[in-house]
Amino acid sequence: MRDLILKLEKERSLSKAEWMRLIGERTPESSAFLLERAQAVRHAFYGRSIYIRGLIEFTNHCKNDCYYCGIRCSNRSLSRYRMTEAEILSCCQNGYELGFRTFVLQGGEDNWFTQERMTALIAKIRHAFPDCAITLSVGEREREEYQAYFDAGADRFLLRHETAEEAHYRQLHPKGMELQHRKECLWHLKEIGYQTGSGIMVGTPGQKTEHLAEDMLFLQELRPQMVGIGPFLPHKDTPFSGAQAGSLELTLYLLGLVRLLLPTALIPATTALSTLHPEGRRRGILAGANVLMPNLSPVENRKNYSLYDNKRCMDSEAAEGLFLLKEEMKEIGYEIVMDRGDAIAEGKAERYESE
Ligand code: SAH
Repeated sequence: MRDLILKLEKERSLSKAEWMRLIGERTPESSAFLLERAQAVRHAFYGRSIYIRGLIEFTNHCKNDCYYCGIRCSNRSLSRYRMTEAEILSCCQNGYELGFRTFVLQGGEDNWFTQERMTALIAKIRHAFPDCAITLSVGEREREEYQAYFDAGADRFLLRHETAEEAHYRQLHPKGMELQHRKECLWHLKEIGYQTGSGIMVGTPGQKTEHLAEDMLFLQELRPQMVGIGPFLPHKDTPFSGAQAGSLELTLYLLGLVRLLLPTALIPATTALSTLHPEGRRRGILAGANVLMPNLSPVENRKNYSLYDNKRCMDSEAAEGLFLLKEEMKEIGYEIVMDRGDAIAEGKAERYESE
């Protein structure tokens, strides 16, 4: 196992059989070794810096019906909201004053936000905050639409592939949604020039080692600049209400694998991870993550952006609790930095590729 971990670190590419072995046959010893290597790689590229992104959950309307997600359209017990342009801009302003230089606009697939409205919104944010990065996380769109957002000033896009395996995808999504389309979207985003993020939930119902191996192969092929990995957590008003949550141990292990596969990736310690376990955030950082995404949404909206039960959104998960995060990171020897972070990532990536 040690040899396989070192091979991954060196070659940054493995076969499906190797991924299956690395994931399926892990032991506490191999896991400890992996996390040690992941930390070393992360320190080589990013030192002890942690980047922060302000998360604005601007709409919980969604036309999709993903079985795992609390804001799916079939959930009638949810009170729906949609922030106005003025509210979104004022969130950015508030974030800017707190020191954030990246805004992540995340939402359900909300048809009210047409290409025109989205483009106008992005252009306004771009104009008001020229030194900030704008990240979108608004699901699947056609290529032209992604291009229009990019031209309006968006820089980055988060779209987890969720699972790269066809049959497993069908277990998580209703008819009408297609894995192939989601993957195509990711290729389009990369081609257009977005800093692109993909990723998965760990421990979704039916997930097997083989599926995770496919996920790693897909990340290996796509080579996204950002990777979001968090545990699946059940939501009471979904078909998976009675399902088990994903495990902390496996989530950390996968974070470590991704750090070795994509040494320069920006990898968040997710809100789901800190909801799953009180130590989740710091354990995520120690497993190789280097990004935190505190919640910048208006407090009254936060409880309604309920992707899963008991989602953390206050204190150290909130933008206004940034000082708590700084303290927590300091305790484990890391430091929150306030810049956009991409110049460093790209500069290092170039140097690394040319080595
Ligand atoms: N509509 C956008 C944003 C979705 S919410 C999109 O489709 O990309 C952001 C992420 O939350 C999703 O990609 C999914 O991986 C995660 N998520 C949704 N439901 C979840 C749950 N029950 N447990 C853990 N993570 C969940």
